[in-house]
Amino acid sequence: MNGNGRFLAGEGSSSRPKRPRLSSPAEDGENVGEVTATVAGDEVRSGTLVDLDLLDCSVCCQPLSNPIFQCDNGHVACSACCTNLRNKCPSCALPIGVYRNRMMERVVEAIIVPCPNAKHGCTDKFSYGKELAHEKECKFGLCYCPAPGCNYSGLCKDLYRHYHAYHLDTCKGFTCGVNKDAWLEISEKILVLQERRDGALVAVQCFEEEQGVYVTVNCIAPCAPGVSEFSFQLTYSNGAKSMSFEFDEMNQIQKVSFQTPEKGFISVPRYFLDGRTTLKMKICINRLGEEEDSD
Ligand SMILES: [Zn+2]
Ligand SMILES: [Zn+2]
Ligand SMILES: [Zn+2]
Ligand SMILES: [Zn+2]
Repeated sequence: MNGNGRFLAGEGSSSRPKRPRLSSPAEDGENVGEVTATVAGDEVRSGTLVDLDLLDCSVCCQPLSNPIFQCDNGHVACSACCTNLRNKCPSCALPIGVYRNRMMERVVEAIIVPCPNAKHGCTDKFSYGKELAHEKECKFGLCYCPAPGCNYSGLCKDLYRHYHAYHLDTCKGFTCGVNKDAWLEISEKILVLQERRDGALVAVQCFEEEQGVYVTVNCIAPCAPGVSEFSFQLTYSNGAKSMSFEFDEMNQIQKVSFQTPEKGFISVPRYFLDGRTTLKMKICINRLGEEEDSD
């Protein structure tokens, strides 16, 4: 019977030698997790882990998540790295990828960390590593002002107020369900529309490419359920002909980018532009879930 890699539940870990620290504890106090442990009699003890980097895989630096493996020398790696390294320990070259480190798995699950947006008001907490998936759809994610040269960032509701207060002259209002002219000078690259009711911001952007012009329509909001969810219909016409596009769901972005997108754009071919420098478009935006029940 080989006992390597097996730890009995409830066995104290204090007698085991400590692994050397990979880096010094963070000084800003942000890299801290709460540790909770249940002991006999339902009493929960808790403590603080000051350096969360200890819970990252030393090979790929991503948060360790189950299953966690160890070599005969006790070096730890995540399962993806064990596969990538063909089950050879990166530290000592012994085999790794068979024996799990159950204690480390329990520790990682017991570490509770706040959402990275806690300082902006999110109160959600997660097992270590799980907060990263949440951050992508946290409604407290910061949004950045789309006005050229403006460095404002804030919660989306605050950004909408900021935009209305400081950039009203550069923006056009829109009402959901109403067809609206959205003429965009190709050289200006961006047109910002603001909803009259809630102030939601929609950025219509164009990217001039060899084959024609790519157009994107994004709402500036975190990708959180229930926050500024729209569908839209966009029509481009050059007088004689027109092209129409319908999107069931408008993309939500926290910051506009001026990099040519690889997907999610509308392509207006060059022959269709007929040498025009203005895209004469019409847009109709609808709030999701309101089309059916509007009376
Ligand atoms: Zn790894
Ligand atoms: Zn090793
Ligand atoms: Zn959050
Ligand atoms: Zn601004």
